[in-house]
Amino acid sequence: MVPVIALVGRPNVGKSTLFNRLTKSRDAIVADYSGLTRDRKYGEAKWQGRTYIVIDTGGISGDEEGIDAKMAEQSLQAIEEADAVLFMVDSRAGMTAADQMIAEHLRKKNKRTFLVANKVDTVDPEIARAEFSPLAIGDAFPVAAAHGRGVNALLQAALGAF
Ligand code: GDP
Ligand code: MG
Repeated sequence: MVPVIALVGRPNVGKSTLFNRLTKSRDAIVADYSGLTRDRKYGEAKWQGRTYIVIDTGGISGDEEGIDAKMAEQSLQAIEEADAVLFMVDSRAGMTAADQMIAEHLRKKNKRTFLVANKVDTVDPEIARAEFSPLAIGDAFPVAAAHGRGVNALLQAALGAF
């Protein structure tokens, strides 16, 4: 069985940056503005010799209409397809209403879910963990997807069980 890991979260938290790092591809376009990845995108990745599939998604912002609603729908489908979910939040931006809405959805699902506090190069990782603990998804894994910090510990937790 090849494990499938979905990257979900609101736009601009760094999902495509992590996707690119995991798959070492430049295919998922990383943007400085929200919502460029319109559809879910699959990539093959390897961790400690083990192959797994990563799904990048466009993001959920919580007040979707039109194309944004489609992006959110893709994210919900990615959650269904996944064996484990990496729920990404932005440590620099702090917790938002959209984060809380996504957390509420994920808490209702019986899915292995890992909270990923990205961009900890910009804030103290311990502050980031405390900031997001009200999401009740468990202890956040502090990472900096852009630099690779914390990514191995995250993969150990997410993939170690498969
Ligand atoms: P997505 O919308 O969730 O896919 O987010 P992107 O991967 O497109 O990233 C959004 C912005 O956050 C881009 O400007 C990235 O360069 C930036 N970013 C991503 N990861 C990090 C990180 O670890 N640290 C910092 N400081 N910025 C990051
Ligand atoms: Mg993206």
